[in-house]
Amino acid sequence: MKKVSKTLELYLENVSKLKVKEANQLPAPKSNEVKLSIIYGGICGSDLRVYNGLLSYAQYPLRPGHEVLGTVIEAGANSPYKVGTRVVSFPNTFCDDCEACSIGKTNICRNKKSLGVTIDGVFAQEIIIDAKYVVPVPEDLVDERAILVEPFAVTVHAVKKAKISKGTSVAVIGCGTEGLLTIALALHLGADITVIDVNPVKFEIARQLGNVKTMSPEDVTDETFDVVIEAAGVPQAIEQAIGLVKPGGTMIALGITGDLVKLSPIHLVRNEISILGSIIYTKADFNDAINYLKDPSFKIEPVVSKIVSCTKAQEAFNDAMSGKYAKIILDFTAGVAN
Ligand SMILES: [Zn+2]
Ligand SMILES: [Zn+2]
Repeated sequence: MKKVSKTLELYLENVSKLKVKEANQLPAPKSNEVKLSIIYGGICGSDLRVYNGLLSYAQYPLRPGHEVLGTVIEAGANSPYKVGTRVVSFPNTFCDDCEACSIGKTNICRNKKSLGVTIDGVFAQEIIIDAKYVVPVPEDLVDERAILVEPFAVTVHAVKKAKISKGTSVAVIGCGTEGLLTIALALHLGADITVIDVNPVKFEIARQLGNVKTMSPEDVTDETFDVVIEAAGVPQAIEQAIGLVKPGGTMIALGITGDLVKLSPIHLVRNEISILGSIIYTKADFNDAINYLKDPSFKIEPVVSKIVSCTKAQEAFNDAMSGKYAKIILDFTAGVAN
């Protein structure tokens, strides 16, 4: 990789004010920390919500980003990861101390802080991070698949909650990145997939992943499914999702909204429908995500629409908001123009 003396970082001075700027020189990592040279950063829906001021708890000014792949370039004395190790990172801190953490559910830690939302994120050419928040990437996992570990672990965690195997009928509502990653995994597990979205552009990407049936929400009439995965996060989609579950089946709630939804208890009770919430993942899901991504027969490439230099971050954010793309990746290995 080209050595850069000055490094760049992305910065949100306030809502919609994104800048690419020269970063301050970083100190040496503390004993529990590693310094990373960032290779790729994935733009996520939550980065766009922070950019647009839609997360009331976001703390500006702020360095955005939480999906990252980097190489350890300096390791603190107690870091288990040596210089040269490629790693991906967790997007949230966890305390290791609260009730949730004590039973291994670090994803619902009561004291968590979110990178790129409540504390500075990772969209920079170099960062320092506590080694407990990074996971090493095996050598045979290429950068372009490794950058998907974090968003894909969300899907792995969610799909584990349902029983999906060959022939399971699955509806996936909402084809954002998480929806598309869910489709990829359910296809890999042999499920029979119906994709529901309002945006036909996303149907094309879904079809590149494999054999799926596509429908717009208003075309769905009397279909029902063993498993319905709601990844749109809008009230109408959540209400529709519950209605599409077969008796005895499961709805996985992956999409996030603070809005209220209408729910008919009689429908739930009579049909014994399970509704399961799913939020991010634990370290075990990260490892499972890595194992799926290592399998060359697991088709995931169509989920990445393009890789853009970090110096063109504004353009990349605009494209990510346009609804025309799936995942857009920022390349942080670009040198500073002289
Ligand atoms: Zn994300
Ligand atoms: Zn905790």
